[in-house]
Amino acid sequence: MVQTSSTASPVYQNFIGGQWRPSHSGETFASTNPAHTQEVIGHYQLSDATDLEAAVEAAVKAQRGWAATPAPVRGDILLRTALLLEQRHDELSNLMTREMGKILRETRGDVQTAIDVAKFVAGEGRRAEGETVPSALPDKFCLTIRQPMGIVGIITPWNFPLAIPAWKTFPALLAGNAVILKPASDTPLLTLKLAEILQEAGLPDGVFNVITGSGGTLGDALVSHKKINMISLTGSNEVGRRVAELCGRDLRRCALELGGKNAVIIMDDADLDLAANNITLGAFGTTGQRCTATSRVIVHRAAYNQLVDRLVAAAERLRVGDGLDAQTEVGPLVNRGRVKAVDAYTQIGKQEGARLLTGGATLTQDSYQEGAFYQPTIFGDVSPDMRIAQEEVFGPFLSLIPVDSYEQAISVANSTEYGLSTGIFTEDARLAFRAMRDIESGLVYINAGTTGSEIHLPFGGMKGSGNGHRELGPDSVNEFCELKSVFISY
Ligand code: NAP
Repeated sequence: MVQTSSTASPVYQNFIGGQWRPSHSGETFASTNPAHTQEVIGHYQLSDATDLEAAVEAAVKAQRGWAATPAPVRGDILLRTALLLEQRHDELSNLMTREMGKILRETRGDVQTAIDVAKFVAGEGRRAEGETVPSALPDKFCLTIRQPMGIVGIITPWNFPLAIPAWKTFPALLAGNAVILKPASDTPLLTLKLAEILQEAGLPDGVFNVITGSGGTLGDALVSHKKINMISLTGSNEVGRRVAELCGRDLRRCALELGGKNAVIIMDDADLDLAANNITLGAFGTTGQRCTATSRVIVHRAAYNQLVDRLVAAAERLRVGDGLDAQTEVGPLVNRGRVKAVDAYTQIGKQEGARLLTGGATLTQDSYQEGAFYQPTIFGDVSPDMRIAQEEVFGPFLSLIPVDSYEQAISVANSTEYGLSTGIFTEDARLAFRAMRDIESGLVYINAGTTGSEIHLPFGGMKGSGNGHRELGPDSVNEFCELKSVFISY
């Protein structure tokens, strides 16, 4: 997996056809530690269309044999994968914190998600089932069977460097597909570790391939390759639109999980301590870099001042620092570019006339100089049409929007192009049920923040947050299958 390098940091190769291979161009790119940006974590292959072609060839060669392997046997390999991930939990979490920045408790959770999904999907190997359907005609029999798509291209973001690659890859493999995965360029390491582990667990050569490189240059070739039958992308809306457009030209299936502008609604009867704890975790956990991060708080005017006091105090108590330090509660952003992007929204918020309540700057003490750090930031008196109320910031940045009624709260909550995750805090059961119905998002939380999840619950967004597919949960394997209807006359 690793070549020695003239620099001190390791050079990682692509994983194609069960072998570690340098890229055709021989060029590499580096990832760095966002807490100490001078520290290079690894050098990775800058792959091009030739490397992609090699990966496709390997996948095509392996896929039929893999599809012919009984589903329970495919599941057993995932179970062994879970055990190997468990054995390497500490090592993988540490590497992830160093490459991506989020705190150890969160990277341990990221690895745990991969373990739990592997176990869940392994069990699906004994349930990969179709249905029998009664015929309307005499002496006829109808049934459905599920078959793999063939070759699946998976493109992943940097904020969940193992969990997202795992929760796409495991169901795709269980369904009998071969996979070509391109990880985000900020955090490729964990997907290469995953390749190593899947191989050790007994996955045949060529069934899982990883090529690293720039999405901007490799993306189009991957997404429009004629032998790739399906694309599964998690990423930004901009990239999602491009991928959908290219897939649309060939009518190729594409599953898109995109951004969010997630809201928490606080009614006047809400438990404000509970709400403030959940909002703080949702807005500043993972440094706000979750697709489900709480980004807007839509709060009944009667509760506004009390909630502001709690949120500002909580944000100012948070300890920002290197995620490897056990005291740290908020790590760095993934790179310095993201710091600039978040700061730009602070300037926009000020220009729009919102009130900066806390934060709004980079951290200036010596210990922060080397890293991509930004203060947890809260704006108050935000109106629903401001850009900071509409656009995904993807950082430790919260907008508070006062409203006067449940109806207004729902209308504001639904007023963005996104529809991923929304919560409501209320003690009124009737309002809770109405909210379940009225909120336009794929995930709805009652008296809980926007970022909690269960690996056996379907996950995905409505409106601009995706194109209707759902990951995780019982349908996650079906997502990577063709459904065939069979009509038998006897
Ligand atoms: P991104 O810039 O869209 O990148 C995502 C992936 O797409 C990366 O691997 C990237 O490669 C690749 N890519 C870039 N341009 C491409 C192109 N033209 N064609 C094909 N692939 C291309 O997103 P990100 O910054 O990594 O992640 C943050 C975004 O992901 C946020 O919007 C967040 O909300 C969303 N997200 C959504 C979910 C969800 O489940 N809904 C979960 C997590 C994150 P490079 O890294 O090489 O550019």
